[in-house]
Amino acid sequence: MKKQIKKWSLRLIVTCIFILGLLIGIVLNPILLYAHSSADGNYTIYHQQQLNPSFITRLHDVDKLLQSGELYSGSLKLSVCINDGSYYPKLIQTIRGAAFGWGFDKEIVLAGNMNAACNYLEINGYRWNLTELLAHEATHCLQFNKYGLLHSNPVAQIPEWKWEGYAEYIARKNKATLIKNITHMLEVENTDNNNWIDFDDSTGTVIPYYKSWLLVQYSLDIRKMRYDQLLKDNTEESALRNEMMAWYNANKR
Ligand SMILES: [Zn+2]
Repeated sequence: MKKQIKKWSLRLIVTCIFILGLLIGIVLNPILLYAHSSADGNYTIYHQQQLNPSFITRLHDVDKLLQSGELYSGSLKLSVCINDGSYYPKLIQTIRGAAFGWGFDKEIVLAGNMNAACNYLEINGYRWNLTELLAHEATHCLQFNKYGLLHSNPVAQIPEWKWEGYAEYIARKNKATLIKNITHMLEVENTDNNNWIDFDDSTGTVIPYYKSWLLVQYSLDIRKMRYDQLLKDNTEESALRNEMMAWYNANKR
């Protein structure tokens, strides 16, 4: 009997390792679940339907945003997985939880309904600017590329506002100044906002990301820190927010 239990336990362990290996293999090789792939510059785009040419234009705009940041690497090759019928985005959603998109290792994965021509991705009536979403997720890939898996989130447990705020900072480079952003934040906070804040282009973001973005914008643009320095800095989030608001009240007009 003991021998039987040992035998079946061993079989179960081998099966689990096999399934886990298979899952990791699929996650790192999206081509297995897509009908088509197209290449442009450092990007390989995986898709089921015909690719809208506007999508390539969006990727070129993403490159311009990424080049403005200190983590940019011109040699990093990225995969972009579109949600147009493949099971792949659903698989990533099962593993990572619901989101507009995900960025990890060298993979950018999109959820929702994309409109590349009008430059947005929509979920349940909420729209995220497509160029800025791609730049956000690509920035996570740059973080992985610079710091490695063990020193990136979720493993490294970097404060969420530094991890997500930097991705928003790079992605929203062309948006308003910090003073205008804080004013907008204060206005929206006093409304029934459902945790969502809109930009002028009728797309938006979730409020925790917006607040994280403001803190990173304050640290990098006003405090003149580098992102590397910000990661090492021990200032508490609440203390930094108080400092930022004191700066805002002294400088708003
Ligand atoms: Zn993110």
